[in-house]
Amino acid sequence: MSKRISFTVSMALLLVMILSACAPAATETPMATDAPMVITDTELNVLCTPQEEWCQGMKQEFEAMYGITVNYVRMSSGESLARLVAEKDAPTFDIWWGGPIDSFVSAKAQGLLQPYDSPNYVNIINPALMKDVDNQWVGIYVGTLGFATNTDWLAAHPEASAPTSWDDLLKPEFTGQVMVAHPSSSGTSYTALCTVLQMRGETDGWEYLKKYASQMASFTKSGAAPAKFVGQGEAAVAIVFSHDIVNEIDNNKLPLVLTFPAEGTGYEIGGMGIINGAKNIQAAKLWFDWAISPEGQALGPVYHAYQAPTVNGVSLSHPELMDANLIDYDFQWCGENKTTFVDKFTNEIANAENLKQ
Ligand code: PLP
Repeated sequence: MSKRISFTVSMALLLVMILSACAPAATETPMATDAPMVITDTELNVLCTPQEEWCQGMKQEFEAMYGITVNYVRMSSGESLARLVAEKDAPTFDIWWGGPIDSFVSAKAQGLLQPYDSPNYVNIINPALMKDVDNQWVGIYVGTLGFATNTDWLAAHPEASAPTSWDDLLKPEFTGQVMVAHPSSSGTSYTALCTVLQMRGETDGWEYLKKYASQMASFTKSGAAPAKFVGQGEAAVAIVFSHDIVNEIDNNKLPLVLTFPAEGTGYEIGGMGIINGAKNIQAAKLWFDWAISPEGQALGPVYHAYQAPTVNGVSLSHPELMDANLIDYDFQWCGENKTTFVDKFTNEIANAENLKQ
């Protein structure tokens, strides 16, 4: 895999498009022009991968708007994918909402999703990047990967400074002081893993990942958890999506400072897809249309979700998070190789036993 770092023209274009997305949508799109005249579904089963608060908020908003009961289960990306595989012949979920699209690319390849031609695709800022060509998944947010360092720990270790490169994580002062989720359970952690492999190439990338794994205090199950644990003083540095770091600083008042690796960092497009064999298909389509409407995406910050939107007509809550030096993350390559890379990491570098909850 060739080295693909720094601002490519396509990434620069993406950022310009996202940053200008606060302009009103050119066309006001009806919420669900394709929706059947009579909705007979009375409930919707959502596999929800973002943080609990946002899942709960979206459930309540949807129920209030459509009078359809939403049952959701919150699970990290890797757990969600494993669950969908296990339930392939008798799915219990209708729609999967949230988590990096690498897992949706993998789910599509395994026949777990079904296509849906939403009337609201016209809202999407960059359809070539943010939507599956076969309409099996679509992007619902964008987030950049960053480092969170405990400022109390920095004050107690004046010789250390917050990491500003991937190599900084390997410094002796951070041995046993770094925390990240395990890529088998977490989409966040898999984004970090694939970012490294893409930037360094597979040979050097796996060498780096061995050293990186040996720096860890522990691996967590959920992607956002390390920011909380590091904020509570259990380690010095967390590798987490930057919007989760902002949430811990702004809302939970944890002593953290956000930095980015200067040579380049990965980013996620959070995905959504309707499950193959979904029982409540009308309700799933309503949720799908709503989740890519400006009204639906404007709700993120209300529930402390500070990702950038994927649709036009919504203001960015934290535009500075998109200022990082982003690589041209290859969602297709990372998605298609997800099982192989996760298995290699788990079998050869760090197993997934006793993950911190
Ligand atoms: N929660 C939040 C707030 C996220 O930003 C993301 C990323 O999509 C996730 C959860 C994904 O969870 P995990 O890394 O545990 O798969």
